[in-house]
Amino acid sequence: MTEAFIEEENKLIAQEYKELLRISYRSLTDEDKKLIRTAFDTAVDAHKEQRRKSGEAYIFHPIAVAKIVASEIGLDATSIAAALLHDVVEDTDYTLNDLEQLFGETVARIVDGLTKISLLDKDEEKPVSLQAENYRKMLLTLNDDVRVIIIKIADRLHNMQTMGSMRLDKQVKIASETLYIYAPLAHRIGLYNIKSELEDLGLKYTEPEVFDDIQQKIKDSKEEQDTYIQNFASTIRKGLEEAGLHINIKGRPKSIYSIRRKMVKQQVSFDEVYDKFAIRIIYKSDLANEKFIAWKIYSIVTDFFRANPVRMRDWISNPKSNGYESLHTTVMGPENQWIEVQIRSERMHEIAEKGYAAHYKYKNNGEKEDQNLEHWLDKLQEALINEETNAVDFVEEFKMNLYAKEIFVFTPKGEIKSLPKGGTALDFSFSIHTDIGLRTRGVRVNGKLVPLNYVLKSGDQVEIITSKQSKPTQQWLSYVTTGRARTKIKSSLNEERKQIAIEGKDILRRKLKSQRITLNEKAINELVKFCKLKTSNDLFYRVGIGTIDNKIIKEFTNSRSNTLINFFKNKIRRNGENPNIINEEITNKFDLIVFGKDEEKLNYKFAPCCKPIPGDNVFGFLTINEGIKVHKYNCPNAVQLQSNYAYRVMQAKWIDSSQQEFKTNLRLTGIDNMGLVNKVTQVISNNMNLNIYSISFNSNGGVFEGKITVGVKNKNFLSTIIQRLNNIKGIDKIYRE
Ligand code: MN
Repeated sequence: MTEAFIEEENKLIAQEYKELLRISYRSLTDEDKKLIRTAFDTAVDAHKEQRRKSGEAYIFHPIAVAKIVASEIGLDATSIAAALLHDVVEDTDYTLNDLEQLFGETVARIVDGLTKISLLDKDEEKPVSLQAENYRKMLLTLNDDVRVIIIKIADRLHNMQTMGSMRLDKQVKIASETLYIYAPLAHRIGLYNIKSELEDLGLKYTEPEVFDDIQQKIKDSKEEQDTYIQNFASTIRKGLEEAGLHINIKGRPKSIYSIRRKMVKQQVSFDEVYDKFAIRIIYKSDLANEKFIAWKIYSIVTDFFRANPVRMRDWISNPKSNGYESLHTTVMGPENQWIEVQIRSERMHEIAEKGYAAHYKYKNNGEKEDQNLEHWLDKLQEALINEETNAVDFVEEFKMNLYAKEIFVFTPKGEIKSLPKGGTALDFSFSIHTDIGLRTRGVRVNGKLVPLNYVLKSGDQVEIITSKQSKPTQQWLSYVTTGRARTKIKSSLNEERKQIAIEGKDILRRKLKSQRITLNEKAINELVKFCKLKTSNDLFYRVGIGTIDNKIIKEFTNSRSNTLINFFKNKIRRNGENPNIINEEITNKFDLIVFGKDEEKLNYKFAPCCKPIPGDNVFGFLTINEGIKVHKYNCPNAVQLQSNYAYRVMQAKWIDSSQQEFKTNLRLTGIDNMGLVNKVTQVISNNMNLNIYSISFNSNGGVFEGKITVGVKNKNFLSTIIQRLNNIKGIDKIYRE
C-alpha cells in the first residue's frame, strides 16, 4: 500500500466522519460532538492495523454503522459513540476498562453487550435455529440497555450490505440468521425500512436466482406501474385540489422479499401477486388537523374508487405498539385492480421510516429530547421482553376474520358478497345466483384454482367458472355449509331423481311386459316389498339408474309364482289351527305380551321349545321356578300343558306397548263450585279423548276433594291433563297417587 493511497484513505475517513455529524437525525450539542469525536479517534486508533476482507480500512465499518444509527434510526450521541466503538473490545487490544475510563459506564456497557453478541456469532458449530434461540435469550437478558440491540441491527445491516467478498457458506449462514432473528427484531422496533432491506438482502444471499428474477421483473414492470399510479393520481387530483389539500402521491413498491413470500404462501406466480405496490398519499398538516385530513382524503379517494371494507386499517386512531401511524385502505383502482392506499401526514411518514425516534422528536411537549428517548427505549425494552406484544400484531392480522361470524369476499368486479364464516367456494357460487351455483365447474380464489369445498377467507377474490354440462352431485352436499346452497342442491338432486324415476317407470313397464306381468298397482306394491323399498318412486328411480336390473326382476317373477304355491299351502295348514283364536291385525309394533282379562303387564320369558315371535298366537304358563313362560298355541307341548295344568295357563295377548294405557289415580282439591265436576270430566274425557275408569267427588264446607282414575298412554299425556285441570277455575291442588 502506497503512502499516497493511505493519505487518500485518511481523507475519505475524515469525510465520512464529517458526514456522520451532518446527517444525525437528532440535533447534537457541543458536548455530544465531543463525545463522538473521542469515540471516533479511539476507534481509528484501535482498528488502524485492520482491514476488511474487501481490502478497505476496517474503520469504515464502524463509521457506517454509526451513520445508520445516527441517521436512519436517529439515536443519541451515546449510541453513535458506542456504534463507533462496537468492535473495539472484541477485535483490538482495548479493554472494557479502557472504554469505561474514556467514555463512562453507559458506553462501556453498550459495547460490552455488543461484544458478547459478537462472540455468539463465532459459535459456528450450532445450527442457525439453535443459535438464534441463544440470541433471543441473550438479547433479552444480557443488558438493560435496548440500544445494544438497535446498534446490533445497524451492524448487521452494514455487514449484509457489504457481504459480497465473503465465503459463500458464511454468506448463507449470516443471511439465514438475519432473516430468522434480525429482520423480525427490526420489525418489532418499528424500523420498517431496515427490516425490508434486511429481508431483501437475506433473500439475495439465500436464494440468489429467485432474488434476481423478481428484481428484474420489478424493473420490467416499473413503467407500467408508474403509468398506473399517474392514472390513479390524476383521477383523484381534482377532488383533492378542490379541497385545498397539499399532497404527494407516490408508488410504494412491495419489497422483493414480501413478493417472494406471497408467491410461496399463495403458490402463485409473480404476475399473479396483485398487490406488488401500494399508493402512498402523504399530506402536509399541522398536528391538530392531521386525523381530520386523513379521513377527508380517504373520503375523496373512495368517491372515485370502491373501498374494500375488510382491508381498512386505522392506525391513526390506534397507533401500533411501535408507534406506527397511518390510514390504510384497499380500493378497486383503475383497470379493476385492487390497490392499497396508505394515507399519512409527513410526520406519520417520518415515524414510519424511523420508528419511535421520530415519534418522540415530534412529541416534544416540554420534555427534553433525551428524556423522550429514554421513554422510547423503556418502551422498546418492555415490548421486547413482553412476548405478548407479539400478540398485538397477531391479533391485527386475524382481526378481520375474528370480528364477525361473517366473512366478506369479492367478485372479480369487486362487488362484495358476505358469507357465513366457514363458507366454501361452492357456497359463494350459490350466493351469487342459483343458476351459477348449479352450473359450477370450478372456482378460482385470488387467481388460483381451488377445490369446491375450499373454505373462503375475508378479502378473497373469487371467480366462478361455469359450464352448461355441470350439475350437482350427491357429493356437493358435503361441500357446502350454507342452508341456501344445500336446499338448492337438494331440490336439484330431487328434480333429477324425479326425472330418472319417470324414465325408470317406462323401463320397468317394458321389462315386466316381457315377463308377462302388467305394471299395475298390485305388481308395483309387490315389487316394492320384494326389493325392500319404501315407495314406488324409490323403485322407479332404481330401475332408472340401473341398480334394479333384469336379474332382480327375474328373481321377482320367480318368487311370485312361488308365492302362489305358498298361498295354497298356507290355506291347508290353517285348517289345523285353533279356531277359537281371534285374528287381530298384526303389525310390527306388537312387541309386548300382557296377561289375563285385565291385560296385566308381568315378567315373562319365551319358551325355548317353540320360540314365539310377535304376532304368534300365544298363552302364558306359570312355571314353579321360572315365572311365566310364553308358548305358541301350536307348540308341540301345548296340548299336554293345557290339559294337565289348566289352572296354570294364562290368557296372553300381544299388544303395541306404545299404545298401552296405564291407569293413574289423580286426587284433586279445590273450592266447591257449580259445574266443577262437569268441567273436570270434560277436560279428561272430551278434550283428551281418554278413558275415565272411576271418578268420585266429596264436598265438605265449601271445599271439595275428588279422586279420578284415568287411563293414559304415557307421562306426557298425564302432564298435559294435570296442566289443563290446573287451568280450571276453583281447582287448588292436584296430586298424582
Ligand atoms: Mn461490526
